This record gives sequence, C-alpha cells and structure tokens, in this order.
Amino acid sequence: MNILMITAHPNPQSFNAHIFKQVRENLDKSHNLEVLDLYAEGFNPVLHFDNSHRRRDLASDPETAKYRDLVTWADQFIFIFPIWWSGMPAVLKGFMDRVFVAGFAYHNTKTGLKGHLNGKAWIITTHNTPAFITLFAQDYGKVLKNQILKACGISSVTISQITGVEKISDQKRQKALDKIVQKAKNL
Ligand code: FAD
Repeated sequence: MNILMITAHPNPQSFNAHIFKQVRENLDKSHNLEVLDLYAEGFNPVLHFDNSHRRRDLASDPETAKYRDLVTWADQFIFIFPIWWSGMPAVLKGFMDRVFVAGFAYHNTKTGLKGHLNGKAWIITTHNTPAFITLFAQDYGKVLKNQILKACGISSVTISQITGVEKISDQKRQKALDKIVQKAKNL
C-alpha cells in the first residue's frame, strides 16, 4: 500500500511524536511510506482567496501541488494528532482547508459533495476527556472522519483514541500504545 502519515504536534518530544515514531517503525516494510509532519514542514495553514487568486484556482495552486500529489498517491492515510478544543490542531485544519479543495478532492452537486479521492484512513488522537464523553461530543476526530474524509470519497475511516492521556498511568498509556502498534503491524 501507499501510506501517507500526517501528524501535527509542535513538540518533537511529545507523546504524539512518540506515537508517530512507533507507528512508522512498526508498519510492514512492504508498504511505500511518505510522512508529513506539518509543524516540521512549517506548513502555512492560512487559506487565502480573493478576486485575483480565486477559490477555483486553489486546485492548481503551485504552493500546495506537492501535497495534492501525495494525497492522490496515497491509498492509506494515517493521521496522528492531539485534540485541541475538541478538534484538530489549527495547522491540520488549515492543511485540509488548503489541500482538500473543490475541484481536487471533491466537487459540489445539487445535494452535497461528490468526493474524488479513494482509499482508507486511520485517525489516531490523544485527549484528556474520558472516552464515554466523546461518544456524545460533536467532534473529537468525527469531523475529519465524516464531514471531510468521507465527503471527499475516503469511505473507510477508523478512529483510535488514547483518552485521559495526561492523567492515566504510564502502564495504561503503554497499553493503549501497544494496541495502536499492533494495528499498525496488521495494516
Ligand atoms: P504529552 O503532554 O507530550 O504527554 C502526555 C503524557 O504522556 C505525559 O504524562 C508524558 O509524561 C507522557 N509521555 C510523553 N512522552 C512520552 C513517551 N515518549 N513515552 C511515554 N510517555 C510519554 N483535551 C481534551 O480532551 N479536549 C479538549 O478540547 C482539549 N483541548 C485542548 C486545547 C489545547 C490548546 C491544548 C494545548 C490541549 C487540549 N487538550 C484537550 C489536551 C490535549 O488533548 C492533550 O494535552 C494532548 O492530547 C496530549 O498529547 P501530547 O502528545 O501533547 O502529550
């Protein structure tokens, strides 16, 4: 498979960075792998369009061309990020705004969006809120899964959450990470 890993955390010593490393190291070596660390890339998340640089031009924006190529190439996406204010970090939201654009990732129809992309996605998130609360919460990865990826044609999306991440014991955190590593091995 062509796997694209996308991560968004400012601290290379963070637990998210550790998850990223563990998943990367445990993927089967037969896969083709590309990684995007949005903070390390210095990705500019601010979407601009106006009358001279129009919204319809975003699908051919040279600044984001390399990311569109990666998204087209991938048939398995792995997103790894902390939940901030119930959703994804701004740099990742900006990546979706600027790269998963109309004319590239989808087009508008009378009834909604028609996705142009294929493949599967695995979203790995960490947060402090207990799991049962996130069942009723509006986002916690659900927006990326349902309103963005599925809308763009990536229909098979799973979410793995490490809940209470700063509060649980080292053993519990390791157990949660072991489950993720096992899943990475079986991708
Ligand atoms: P870290 O802080 O790096 O580490 C977490 C724990 O793991 C620490 O105990 C650390 O000792 C341990 N650890 C670190 N590195 C390793 C390693 N290599 N191996 C083993 N253990 C390690 N949470 C919510 O639930 N809902 C919210 O809406 C929400 N909003 C937030 C908004 C902001 C702006 C911020 C900054 C945080 C928010 N949080 C929220 C909390 C956030 O989700 C957590 O801080 C984050 O998920 C923790 O992940 P981390 O990678 O930053 O962990």
